[in-house]
Amino acid sequence: MTPFRKLATATAAALALAAPAPAQTPADEAVDARFQTPDLPAPNAYRAATGRPGPGYWQQRVDYDIRATLDPTTHTITGSETITYANRSPDTLAYLWLQLDQNLFAAGSQGAQTFPQEGRFGGSGVGGGYTISRVAGPDGAGLEHRIVDTQMRVDLARPLPPGEATTLSIDWSFRVPETGADRMGREGDHYVIAQWYPRLAVYDDVDGWNTLPYLGQGEFYLEYGDFDVELTVPATYLVGATGSLENPGEVLTATQRERLERARAGEVVQVVAREELSDKTAIRPRTEGTLTWRFRAENVRDVAWAASPQVVWDATSASGETLVHALYRPDAAAWREAAEMTRHSIDFYSEMLMDYPYPTATAVEGPVFGMEYPMIVFVAPESSRAGLFDVLDHEWGHMWYPMIVGTDERRHAWMDEGIDTFVNQFSKAAYFPESEPFLLTVAQYAQAIRAFPEQPLGTRPDLFASQTALGIGAYIKPAVMLNALRELAGAEAFDPALAAFTRTWAYRHPKPADFLRFMEDELGLQLGTFWWSWIHTTATSDVAILGQDQSRAGETWKVVVTVDQRGELVMPARVVATTATGARDTVTIPAEAFYGTDRATATLYLPERAERITVNEGPAWGDVNPRNNIWTR
Ligand SMILES: [Zn+2]
Repeated sequence: MTPFRKLATATAAALALAAPAPAQTPADEAVDARFQTPDLPAPNAYRAATGRPGPGYWQQRVDYDIRATLDPTTHTITGSETITYANRSPDTLAYLWLQLDQNLFAAGSQGAQTFPQEGRFGGSGVGGGYTISRVAGPDGAGLEHRIVDTQMRVDLARPLPPGEATTLSIDWSFRVPETGADRMGREGDHYVIAQWYPRLAVYDDVDGWNTLPYLGQGEFYLEYGDFDVELTVPATYLVGATGSLENPGEVLTATQRERLERARAGEVVQVVAREELSDKTAIRPRTEGTLTWRFRAENVRDVAWAASPQVVWDATSASGETLVHALYRPDAAAWREAAEMTRHSIDFYSEMLMDYPYPTATAVEGPVFGMEYPMIVFVAPESSRAGLFDVLDHEWGHMWYPMIVGTDERRHAWMDEGIDTFVNQFSKAAYFPESEPFLLTVAQYAQAIRAFPEQPLGTRPDLFASQTALGIGAYIKPAVMLNALRELAGAEAFDPALAAFTRTWAYRHPKPADFLRFMEDELGLQLGTFWWSWIHTTATSDVAILGQDQSRAGETWKVVVTVDQRGELVMPARVVATTATGARDTVTIPAEAFYGTDRATATLYLPERAERITVNEGPAWGDVNPRNNIWTR
């Protein structure tokens, strides 16, 4: 929030002249504080200086077997799970930490004291939170455990050495809150269920056990593994979940199974049409008692699901092999296009980043504004087509960040929200060719930072003072930053680099330093100052044309352009001069030319007089004051 200020450059420069500076003096950076660089952790055997996993990179693996029953008369979910935990770290572990996210909704939780409970991340005071009735080891004997708000430490009977695995069995139940921090909840008998079973916390080489509490605003960070999930619900309900449905013969009618086969061929098919909803006997194998739905998901960091007796079900396929489902209540009219939109997003990001690796993609309409889990998203009814696309496409973009590329959302929201917001611009432009996505992003940013106090985008999500500050810092500004880097590097270099980062870190846990190093390495750009300014400060870029001078020298015109850096964020300045007949010359003044000064000049050569001169023209540069970027004769 503190504005970023240059130090007194004249004084420092005079001192530097008076006495020769010792080698590698930190005072060198102090001369112009705009040129600081982030303090990255030293590379090591786990994380290489190139931003790639090192030769010793390791990651834990956690597999789950979960059985749960939903009782809609009490809005309670009761479950048992067996967790297989493989210790691939070099350390012997005496205890494991688990996340108990439902405890956010217990009265008096830490989150309830951090965020207003009537606000978006509220939900406590409904008698929520877990009842943990059993925690046992592989021999069935109970294990010592201690609950600390939304975390649980389980002491193992014997320490777990590197290379070995153990199992935990946990029995639990909780009451589904109506409003579950806008990530899960229910509306009547329409349930969207997430962050719902005790989940192993990440143990990694950077932070050890990741025990940041779930306070509401920060999302989550989890290990990868395989899941077998059995969900028992009233027989009249339909269920959508992460993973592939393993027992369609038991829970779907023959007609529905036949319709799903048609959807697999690419058609958009109504598996359950709105006019069929009134006669449950026609759309359910039976209507009395319960049915158990079995799902299997491989190589995911989480599972979520939805259950409801009142949803329309559309299906189609995307990206070749993926079965797309859209489940929505009949009055959500915009959702008739949800399956088509989902297909677009899955295909688009498969092309841009990496093939979608999962067998299903399920969009569920409900009381959650917009939230993503592997293979499933929850989105509000949304009245407009563009509004629904924006949220749906954003949540589908999250399949890549952070579901495939397993970043730490609870610490570094910009890595998932920011990269996602960045790629959403391209997806939207492809779906609505008339839209101007870059203009929208930078206009939102320029408008927001004038109206609201800004925090650096590197801020931990729970420490953003408002949802607006979170929206600017974690979503919009990182997208603006990546737009600017793409302009600087050129799309032909940037786009493959981002795709390569995605593939390199798929199913792994990259940290911000890995991303910064990887992009520098791929692009061949020294980006220290760029990263520092965009990530760790609230400085803005405002590059202006201060003046121009044109003179004829024989057959050519020499055009000298003076550029002024008016913002505290120093960007390289790309100067383009164009003649009346369309001849042009381009010169990029590097950021270093502005070291200790706001002004630098570029010299361009043209066959005739320049009619138009621009610097960092266009919204992709992220310049907050574009009016002073253009000169015309
Ligand atoms: Zn998001």
